[in-house]
Amino acid sequence: MIKTDILIIGAGPTGLFAVFEAGLLKLKCHLIDALPQAGGQCSEIYPKKPIYDIPAYPEILAGDLTHKLMEQCKQFEPGFTLGERAETIDKQDDGTFIVTTNKGTKHHAPVVAIAGGLGSFEPRKPLIDNLANYEDKGVEYIIKEPEFYRDKKVVIAGGGDSALDWSIFLSDVASEVTLIHRRSEFRGHLDSVEKVQELKNAGKINLITPAEVVGVEGDNKIESITIKQGDDTFKKECDHFVPLFGLSPKLGPIANWGLEIEKNAIKVNNALDYQTNIPGVFAIGDVNTYPGKLKLILCGFHEATLMCQSAYQIINPGKKYVMKYTTVSGVDGFDGTRKEAPKAVVKKIE
Ligand SMILES: Cc1cc2nc3c(=O)[nH]c(=O)nc-3n(C[C@H](O)[C@H](O)[C@H](O)COP(=O)(O)OP(=O)(O)OC[C@H]3O[C@@H](n4cnc5c(N)ncnc54)[C@H](O)[C@@H]3O)c2cc1C
Repeated sequence: MIKTDILIIGAGPTGLFAVFEAGLLKLKCHLIDALPQAGGQCSEIYPKKPIYDIPAYPEILAGDLTHKLMEQCKQFEPGFTLGERAETIDKQDDGTFIVTTNKGTKHHAPVVAIAGGLGSFEPRKPLIDNLANYEDKGVEYIIKEPEFYRDKKVVIAGGGDSALDWSIFLSDVASEVTLIHRRSEFRGHLDSVEKVQELKNAGKINLITPAEVVGVEGDNKIESITIKQGDDTFKKECDHFVPLFGLSPKLGPIANWGLEIEKNAIKVNNALDYQTNIPGVFAIGDVNTYPGKLKLILCGFHEATLMCQSAYQIINPGKKYVMKYTTVSGVDGFDGTRKEAPKAVVKKIE
């Protein structure tokens, strides 16, 4: 049985920052994540994309943000159960919780913070009969490592930001990039749409619209796709076919935990601390909903900070906590490290 103060379900940016905020309050955290690595959407979906709206970072790659968050929380020695999905929650007579994963690992904590983001990642797939046979044999639904596509012929399908952004990025990496969309209009940032137009004019992206991929072929791996454009059907050679149709949010097992759910997200009390209808269970980051909710990383950071204050009260009933600036208090890591601003020098001036 793994014991901790706050059990965090989801090691995305929200969960990782919660470890740091909890550490300032001397609370220990353990994180469970279904993925084999920390970072949530940032490391699974778009590690090489720059983010522009993280306070104080004019630009940071999503993968680098994950590394920085790991570095920031390291001193508070979080535990990790990775590659396992939190499956069940059982409230004990003393009000604490036992959370068990799909592999049977049990975790015991007085506070549970669900930072499950979109839940389990379920990419939307095109309806092509034998598509599943080519998964990981040239068909991918998420681009993790652009270098994987170096000097390859890549076909991307989709009409949103992901399809546009990756077509732009891979136009400098792959030997050939083809973007296929069932409409001629794209639903993405104006800059991205204009950039694709520019690259098309320069002959660096093949654009096939309005058209649909209706078949995939190849012996052991993908060798070509079949495209339907109007009444025309034709084949195109390729090494990779990447349909980027977005992710369908699926809460997974958490949906059966007796929490109030609205539109696939967990309802929380945003007037106070992001607690759910189950006292002691909080929901922070993309996984929660309340009036005015924005699914942004910086909102997850804020929610994690307030959640930790309430968790402190649950874990230390009646004990008063006075918030101090880290510039004043410094940071005492659980690993024995101490960070503090240099002390003022007291010296007489003659
Ligand atoms: C392409 C793209 C671009 C984006 N750009 C920006 C941007 O520029 N700025 C911005 O602020 N935001 C951006 N976002 C949104 C941002 O990534 C999310 O707001 C953020 O990742 C939410 O963090 P989170 O920690 O709440 O959840 P997530 O990052 O989704 O992490 C949740 C984690 O919980 C895990 N999990 C879920 N259920 C379970 C379970 N039952 N058991 C175990 N683990 C579980 C998942 O595996 C996942 O790792 C973008 C998103 C995408 C897809």
